[in-house]
Amino acid sequence: MKYISTRGNAPALNFEQVLLTGLASDGGLYVPETLPTFSAQEIASMAGLEYPELARRIITPFVAGCIPDEDLAVILEQTYAEFRHTAIAPLVQVGANQWVLELFHGPTLAFKDFALQLLGRLLDYVLERRHQKVVIMGATSGDTGSAAIEGCRHCDNIDIFILHPHNRVSDVQRKQMTSVEGDNIHNLAVEGNFDDCQAMVKASFGDKHFLPQDRGLVAVNSINWARIMAQIVYYFYAAVALGAPHRPVAFSVPTGNFGDIFAGYLARQMGLPVEQLIIATNRNDVLHRVMTESTYGRQPLAHTLSPSMDITVSSNFERLLFDLYGRKGAAIADLMNQLESHDVRFSDAAMAEARKLFSSHCVSDAQTCEQIASIWRDSEYLLDPHSAIGVHAALNAGLASGVPVVSLATAHPAKFPEAMAAAGLNDAVALPPHLADLFDRPERFEVLPNDLTAVQAFISANINA
Ligand SMILES: *Cc1c(COP(=O)(O)O)cnc(C)c1O
Repeated sequence: MKYISTRGNAPALNFEQVLLTGLASDGGLYVPETLPTFSAQEIASMAGLEYPELARRIITPFVAGCIPDEDLAVILEQTYAEFRHTAIAPLVQVGANQWVLELFHGPTLAFKDFALQLLGRLLDYVLERRHQKVVIMGATSGDTGSAAIEGCRHCDNIDIFILHPHNRVSDVQRKQMTSVEGDNIHNLAVEGNFDDCQAMVKASFGDKHFLPQDRGLVAVNSINWARIMAQIVYYFYAAVALGAPHRPVAFSVPTGNFGDIFAGYLARQMGLPVEQLIIATNRNDVLHRVMTESTYGRQPLAHTLSPSMDITVSSNFERLLFDLYGRKGAAIADLMNQLESHDVRFSDAAMAEARKLFSSHCVSDAQTCEQIASIWRDSEYLLDPHSAIGVHAALNAGLASGVPVVSLATAHPAKFPEAMAAAGLNDAVALPPHLADLFDRPERFEVLPNDLTAVQAFISANINA
């Protein structure tokens, strides 16, 4: 399998190379040159498979030529053994034809574990064979940092440095990052905001001279192809459980960077009968505006009750645009260049194509709270604020009756006590047993000034030999 850049001007890479790369050298994102497809018969044969075995079938073609099947099977078994529910991604019914896919049974209680538990193991496997070590550097406003740290804690060939804005992440989120033990885990609390952290990571990828020569720098943000790949699996898992390939299914996805929902799009391109993909956003509605007005434009960041979706730029949308524009890299490069300076209007043909499959909803904090409260009242089921946005969009999508809708539940409600309190449900939520003592665990983090030189000096001094 070969991977190509959405901007058409970077070398094609194999899976191993793509895993170790962030952005393509032309600024684009890597996508498979061709997608594997599954026939209706092959999809029917997926019924009843355990999650790691289904993952093996879906992922095998993407890593072909780089990871032998037996090794992939072992990696996947280990990855999903970390989850605290034997179904890995259980489906829960919350209304007639309304389903919730619980993606929060991993170590950090958010769906990012699906991808990052796998990513850490894939990296370590590949690095071991290459006799190579790398540094991972990432910025987080919350969920990504803890999931990345949990995913890399046992990796001998990786030092991971995660920057978070000092005093500006929630207590649960900080504790989840800073209480993980391991010599290769480094939490940096930067005296600045999230954008400052992200700018330092970006600058470091641009100039890697602060690192020893033998250390590569790897990105774990959602533009990493392996993360998207891992997320395709649960779309198949849910749809097959609800009757695919014989019955089509719709998905509602609480969306920020467009990574998770793009995996749903790929599942459909690979043969899964997906009737509709619902883009559910909070007040940071860049994608809802793209869908309704065909125009992509930045607006100031709004802080909401669903902080993991507080974004102004939705990076992975570029991967969809590449298909919508007939996979013409030069056209995408041109659009992305324009976006640097002003709003961009996408072509009618491209947007008409997108609207055949995608719909969108923007959900306010007030509606989020009402949705949490009403599902609790009607079904005694607790949604976290991100998942509630997905369910709200699903209930208002106007789908043909009879089509089951699966809303992705991307986080456990105990991670967001402020939102639960705002919905009037603060007493109902407890952390699950494996995290019950989270607030008693010792923390380790380094407070650093908002200064690139200081951060880079800390990193180069703390890399393990
Ligand atoms: C990251 C995250 C999202 C958004 O996922 P994208 O792939 O960026 O669209 C939604 N919910 C939660 C809880 C998250 O952590």
